[in-house]
Amino acid sequence: MSHVLQTYGRFPVTLVRGEGTRVWDDAGKSYLDFCSGIAVCALGHSPKVLVEAISSQAATLIHCCNLYHIPQQEELARVIVEDHVRLPGKVFFSNSGAESNDGLIKSARRFGHARPQPDGSPRYEILSFNKSFHGRTLGGISATGQDKVKEGFDPLPTGFRHLPYNDLDALRAATRPETVAILLEPVQGEGGVNVATPEFLQGIKELCSEHDLLLLMDEVQAGFGRCGDPMAWREIAPELEPDGISWAKGMGGGFPVGAFWLSDRTIDGEKPLSSLMGPGSHGTTYGGSPLACAASLAVLREISEQNLIENVRARATQIRETVESWNHPLVTDIRGLGLLIGIGLDTSKMTTPEGKLPAIHLSAELITHGLLAPPAGPETLRLLPPLNVTETEVSEALEIVRATLDELTA
Ligand SMILES: *Cc1c(COP(=O)(O)O)cnc(C)c1O
Repeated sequence: MSHVLQTYGRFPVTLVRGEGTRVWDDAGKSYLDFCSGIAVCALGHSPKVLVEAISSQAATLIHCCNLYHIPQQEELARVIVEDHVRLPGKVFFSNSGAESNDGLIKSARRFGHARPQPDGSPRYEILSFNKSFHGRTLGGISATGQDKVKEGFDPLPTGFRHLPYNDLDALRAATRPETVAILLEPVQGEGGVNVATPEFLQGIKELCSEHDLLLLMDEVQAGFGRCGDPMAWREIAPELEPDGISWAKGMGGGFPVGAFWLSDRTIDGEKPLSSLMGPGSHGTTYGGSPLACAASLAVLREISEQNLIENVRARATQIRETVESWNHPLVTDIRGLGLLIGIGLDTSKMTTPEGKLPAIHLSAELITHGLLAPPAGPETLRLLPPLNVTETEVSEALEIVRATLDELTA
């Protein structure tokens, strides 16, 4: 009997070792890993640079807390702002995606106090989108546009409204005096792999300028090279300038670390937006420890030095062209950006056992054939290989996908 709280439906496999794109189970069987711990292991499993960075920092100083100065945190913030966001701003370090989004939500509330409604009452409402996923804290599930994560947890924090994704007219019509921010994933990951259109992002930015709203990007899954450009929104709309960005997943390569960035752009014509989160406004004990920051610095350095962005784009093209060339009856479409890829399934043509969701059934069958790849919603298979996956590994994984789809075709 397990003593672990049973909050997860798990696939029947126990992984005990990993190297690059490969993992091994407790019986010694190997798998190609196109799940990467859900877009976390950006450099694959146990990459040398990350093992060395963690080992050497662990032997020096693991944790000291934010009552004291932490040089690795300063350096990681500098790299994120100067090399990756490339817009003036400040970074807060957290430990997960949900926590990073909670930071953005709190920042939006502060902004709503600083820039209130005409009658002086604070603005508070955050608009987010159907099928979005923003994490499992109360703030995260309130922002999330999927009912299943909210069941039985009400009363939830109020001040969130969900609108259709990629529908600018609906968004425009929904904006009202209490609205203070728009929060979105540039590519919806958990919700089925849906990519924002350039027009949608551009339109949101204009709407934000018009109504003095914050544009908040949840890059927890899409960020730091997963979609090509380290900023996924920049891959879609290069001119965009968000006000806040959240990250986690890939930025630590498997070490738990998250962050959010707030712009230094001035509000009220003088104060920077980032100054709204001043001393005492926010905190977390573990956030930005020397160990977490050393790990993330090693990951971001490797992504830049190995030019993994180019590999992401090349492998994405390889996957797209290969899957399209199959003309497979079970494949409706292929969506995504970079190596955040969704293969849409025509579940009416697929044999699925009673009571099972088609995409979960497919993922389970792939495991028996030696490939890990998670579902994204009931009708989408997701491919999330490490950013340094090779051409040969992609070919091998796609052969498994094709053979498994053939077997499941009714
Ligand atoms: C995974 C995810 C989160 C939540 O991250 P956790 O680290 O699990 O808290 C938030 N937003 C997006 C877009 C995600 O994919």
